[in-house]
Amino acid sequence: MNTLQIPDEPRDPADHYIRFLGDAVTPFHAVVECENRLKSAGFSQISVLETLNVAQGDKCYVVHPDGKTLIAFVVGSRSPVKTGFALWGAHTDSPDLRLRLNPLTTEAGTVQLTTQLHGGLIRRSWLDRPLSLAGSVFQVARDASGHPIFNPIDGQPVISRTLVRLDEPLAVIPDLAIHLDRKKNDEGEINAQTMLNAVFACGDDPDEAMKALSLRLGMPLDQIDGFDLHLVVHQRPQRVGVDGSLIVGPRHDDLAMVFAGLTGLIEATTDDPAPSRTSVAAFFDAEETGSTTSSGAQSSFLRDVLLRIARNHPETTAGDLEQSLLRSFVVSGDMAHALHPNHTDKHDSQHAPLINQGVVIKANTNDRYATVGETAAFFRAICEAANVPVQAFVGRQDMGCGTTIGPLTAAQLSARTVDIGAPMWGMHSTGETMGAQDMAWIIAAARVFFRGGAK
Ligand SMILES: [Zn+2]
Repeated sequence: MNTLQIPDEPRDPADHYIRFLGDAVTPFHAVVECENRLKSAGFSQISVLETLNVAQGDKCYVVHPDGKTLIAFVVGSRSPVKTGFALWGAHTDSPDLRLRLNPLTTEAGTVQLTTQLHGGLIRRSWLDRPLSLAGSVFQVARDASGHPIFNPIDGQPVISRTLVRLDEPLAVIPDLAIHLDRKKNDEGEINAQTMLNAVFACGDDPDEAMKALSLRLGMPLDQIDGFDLHLVVHQRPQRVGVDGSLIVGPRHDDLAMVFAGLTGLIEATTDDPAPSRTSVAAFFDAEETGSTTSSGAQSSFLRDVLLRIARNHPETTAGDLEQSLLRSFVVSGDMAHALHPNHTDKHDSQHAPLINQGVVIKANTNDRYATVGETAAFFRAICEAANVPVQAFVGRQDMGCGTTIGPLTAAQLSARTVDIGAPMWGMHSTGETMGAQDMAWIIAAARVFFRGGAK
C-alpha cells in the first residue's frame, strides 16, 4: 500500500486541510467550503441585508453579497465595547488566470479561451497542465417575451448567480518546445497577452466547443449575462516526501490561513460555548490585487459588521461603539517565505523560517506588515500557551517586501495587529509547498487565540 495516499478518513489536520483546499478552487468556492464547515459546527447564516440581531453564545456568519468574502463570529457574553473583538483575518483569493469578457478566439486549428491575470502569479507554473473551469455565472431574470425583469422597489434588474465547477480537464496552455526557442531556459519571457491563452478544443468552429461547454454547464451560454470564471489547475493537492511532511498544491496563499482560522474558531467554540469576548474570523477577497473592492480588506465591510455586532449586543448600553474596535486584537494570517534550500541567499540569515518548524511572525518597519513590538509579544504569548514554536521573518533590506491585509485592517479599525503566517516555498505558483506539521501548529495557535490564552 502506498502510505502517502490520503486515506478515506483524514489522519491529521493536514489531511483535513487538503480536502478543503481541493474543493475551494475559487473565492466563491472557498466561501461555500467555509459555510459547509460552519453549518456542521452549528453556525447559522444571517443576511447582511437584515438587522444583525445577536445574543450571547450565538454562532453566526455573514457573506458579502458578492459571495467572495465571509465573516464568522461567536458572540461573547460581554459587550464588545468592553472587551474588543478577537479577530483572525485571511484572504480567499489567490493569483490565477480568469477569462476575459469575450474569451473565445481561434488560432492555428484550435479554439482558445483568452485569459487575464489576477495578481502576481508565476506564469510558467500554468503551462503544460490540465486545467478546469470554475467560478460564478450570472443570469438576468426575463419575462415570457425575453425582456429583463426589474425589481419595482429598487429599480434594479433581477439577477441570479450560479456557482460553477467543471471538475474535469477542459483546457491546456502548451509551452513552446525548446527546439523553437533555444534561449528559453535563460530568458524565457512569458507574454501575458499572447502566451497564456488556453487551448479549449481542436478545430476552427467555436460554436461546437461552446455547445459542448453549454452541455457541461447545464445551461445555454447565450443565457449567461455575466460571469467570473477562473481557470483552475486540475490536480488535487497532495502529501509529498517519504515522510509525507509536505503539502504541494495551489492556493496555500492564503487558503491555509483561512482553514487554520476557521478550524481554530470552530474548535475554540466547541471548547468553550460561552466565551466573554466575541471572536471573529474574516476572510476577504481581492488581497492579491490590493484589496480595494466592495468586500476587500480596504472596504468598510468588516468595520460595518463589527460595529453592527457591537451596537446590537444585549450588554451594550453605553459608550462609543468605536471603543470595540480600539480594544480589538487582529491576527492577520498570510503565508510567509520559508528559506529555500536552492536559494539560501534570498533570506536574511537571522530571519529565515524553516518549513515544519513553526508559525512565523512577519515584520517590516516600512509598515508593509502591521506587526510592532507589542503585537509580536502578544502573539508570542499565544504561541507559548499553545506550545507552538515561533519563527521570525524580516525581508532582506536590499530586496522588496510583499504586503497583506494586516496593515489595511489595522488602518480601517485602528486595532492592534500582528502579521503572521506559515512558511512555504514557491508562493504564487500553482504548486506551492507548505509543511503538514505547520498546519497543525497554526490551528493550535488560532484556537488558543480565540480562547484568550486557555488551552
Ligand atoms: Zn497572501
